[in-house]
Amino acid sequence: MKRKNAKHPMLAEEERIVDILKKLRDEGKIEQSLYKKLKPRGSQPARLYGLAKVHKEVIPARPVLSMPGSSYYNIGVQVAEWLSNVPACQINSSNRIADALKDNHLEEDEELVSFDVSSLYTNVPVMEAIDVCTELLYDGNQEAPPIDKETFKILAQISSCNVIMSTHKCYYQQTDGLAMGSPPAPHFANGWMSQHDDRIAEGSKFYFRYMDDIIRDIKKEDKGRKLEEINNIHPSLKFTIECENEGSIPFLDMRIMNIMGNLSSTWYSKPSDTGLIMNYHSLAPKRYKRSVVSGFVHRIHRACSSWDNIHVILEKAKRILERNQYPPMFYDPIIEETLKKIVEEEHKVEGEEIEETEEMNPSTTEPAQEEENSIPKQLFFLQYRGKVSEDLARSLHKINAPCTVVMTLRKLKTVLPSLKPTVEKCLRSGVVYRITCPRCGVRYVGYTTRHLKTRYKEHQKKDAPVKKHLVRCRARIELEDDVEILDSSARGETYLQIREALWIKESRPTINVKDEYKSRTLTIKW
Ligand SMILES: [Zn+2]
Repeated sequence: MKRKNAKHPMLAEEERIVDILKKLRDEGKIEQSLYKKLKPRGSQPARLYGLAKVHKEVIPARPVLSMPGSSYYNIGVQVAEWLSNVPACQINSSNRIADALKDNHLEEDEELVSFDVSSLYTNVPVMEAIDVCTELLYDGNQEAPPIDKETFKILAQISSCNVIMSTHKCYYQQTDGLAMGSPPAPHFANGWMSQHDDRIAEGSKFYFRYMDDIIRDIKKEDKGRKLEEINNIHPSLKFTIECENEGSIPFLDMRIMNIMGNLSSTWYSKPSDTGLIMNYHSLAPKRYKRSVVSGFVHRIHRACSSWDNIHVILEKAKRILERNQYPPMFYDPIIEETLKKIVEEEHKVEGEEIEETEEMNPSTTEPAQEEENSIPKQLFFLQYRGKVSEDLARSLHKINAPCTVVMTLRKLKTVLPSLKPTVEKCLRSGVVYRITCPRCGVRYVGYTTRHLKTRYKEHQKKDAPVKKHLVRCRARIELEDDVEILDSSARGETYLQIREALWIKESRPTINVKDEYKSRTLTIKW
């Protein structure tokens, strides 16, 4: 089945994409700088794996596609960035639902229903979605990409069509549907859905859609007819309906109440929510725990239509905090402070559209430095070890070190084995490797940012030092048996060179040619 010299499907895929990009560049369709930005190199397979949906009774797997590092990724990120300019493709949060509710009153023969699209991602017809979103992107209402429509479509197709992915067993090619994990997928799904909004919303006073979740009001007698109608809009679009239950209906992280036609909302956590949050005593910076508390307040504020509801539900949030061992003397002042800030902001921007208050991102320290430093800041990852780490971060800040400290935490995820399928040895890239002669044991150490297989083949060429040695020694090597991966990193060439130099020092390989060897003395560059 497998020809010995047959090109690996992943290598062929990278070549295919590079060829398309080259052609676009040579035809003047894309600039050299964009070509360089999009071009894959030493790409890893997109990997498909399952995450267990543990909150369901019979545990199904949620398919997840890991795209970073794959040959589609750079293009996907760029396509997503362009699409995010289109309002219909943006993923809006439920920010304003709570406010919109208050302006509506339902009659006795009306109620709220939610429509849920079954498996939106896997059912979206990709080519159609690309066409719809391309038209939206080029309709002149926002900044269009620096490429023509046809070129955009080509790039969009590379990023989202016929993606080859590896699983634990073998390789698959996607034939239709959007791949979760592909950067532009949510934009394509949302843009495609948006064209059906008018039909679904028809006849409603109140309509809101967040990706595949829809809520609207409807005349009680029309429910069945409407469901049938919207199920006939498009063969790929199938809805399920949920109706009010004792005057209330859950929607996203809200419970929406219909009391005698008056609508209101409160924060709602699904029964499947375990209530587990970062424990107060876990080894993590205080700042992160503060943002757990303020994050609760922001989410609750966003979901509730009145201050009464906010206060009632805050009590519930306090119980959750206490079950995770947060003492009231820690959380009370933070809650008060956050509420105060929210009120101040509401007064400040009265009448204006309020920017969504992003939950504080717990992964970076001191975001958005106001002082404009000319030296670009590097991210500096530091495993959090308590006070010492905080002290180090503080002193780095004090001396104006050109870095942003990111504290990394040990989580359960860090110690559990990865569920992702492993990448075959020949496809690994960004590695330091060692070749050992099977007959005499002498060694060669090298690094490559390309695929190991590609670099390995170069060692087999007639004039290569490794090949010369093998001929002299009358030995043969196999990638599987005689090449070891010593180190791997996605941090780039400089990092690999440093690691390579360390390994050369450590294992004193003799096949490495003298001057090549000498030129790789350890220099630490920034
Ligand atoms: Zn030998």
